[in-house]
Formats: sequence, C-alpha cells, structure tokens
Amino acid sequence: MPFGVFVMTQHILIVDDNPDNRQLVAWILEDEGYKFTCSASAEDGLALLEKHKYDMVLMDISLPGMDGKQATQLIRKNVKFGQIPILALTAHAIMAEEAAIMASGVNAVITKPLDEALLLATIAKYLK
Ligand SMILES: [Mg+2]
Repeated sequence: MPFGVFVMTQHILIVDDNPDNRQLVAWILEDEGYKFTCSASAEDGLALLEKHKYDMVLMDISLPGMDGKQATQLIRKNVKFGQIPILALTAHAIMAEEAAIMASGVNAVITKPLDEALLLATIAKYLK
C-alpha cells in the first residue's frame, strides 16, 4: 500500500429474508470490495446494529415479522445510529408505496429486480 493512503473498508448491513436476494447483493458488494454482513430479518438486523458499527443498511421492505419500514423508523428514532444511510430494496414499484417507504426515513428506494449499476451508484452516493 502506498505511504499515506488509508483505505477504510466500508461495512454494509444487508437485511433481506430471501437467500437468493442476499446472495446477489453480497456478490455485487464483494466485487466492489465492500465488507458486508447479512441478516434475514429486521429483528436480527437491529440486533446487529446495536452490537457493531456499519456504514450503511440495505433494507428489504417485505420481511416476515417487522417490515423494513418499521425497522427504518426504529433506526431513525435511535440517536445512537445517527444518520446512517439506509437504502430500501423493494419489489413494490407503485408510487404510493414508494412515498410510504421514503416517509419511514430511508435515503433512497431501489426497486427489484436490481440494476447493479444503479445500486452501486446509489451506494456510492450515500456512503460518507
Ligand atoms: Mg423480502
């Protein structure tokens, strides 16, 4: 590594109940050199956020138990998490639903099936 260059690996939390979706996002992030952790539920994701430092959350909206909107609201209410960027990943494409998702406190909504280039550009935009 050249002197004076410090590469801080960004750590992204993936919350998605669908294993295929988790794997796809994991591959995309891995290719870009991001560190990531996967969680299959909002409850597990929130527990991980309490214990570890992440730079961003990729939040599926349709989840068993607590959904991604509720989880986002809880994260936004907790000052400890600051303004961690949260990107919603959802198959819900209708505008009314997108407005409701944005209102929960996410920074952006990305629709599935995922456009890899759009996902990476949006991640780069919101990572500090
Ligand atoms: Mg889901």
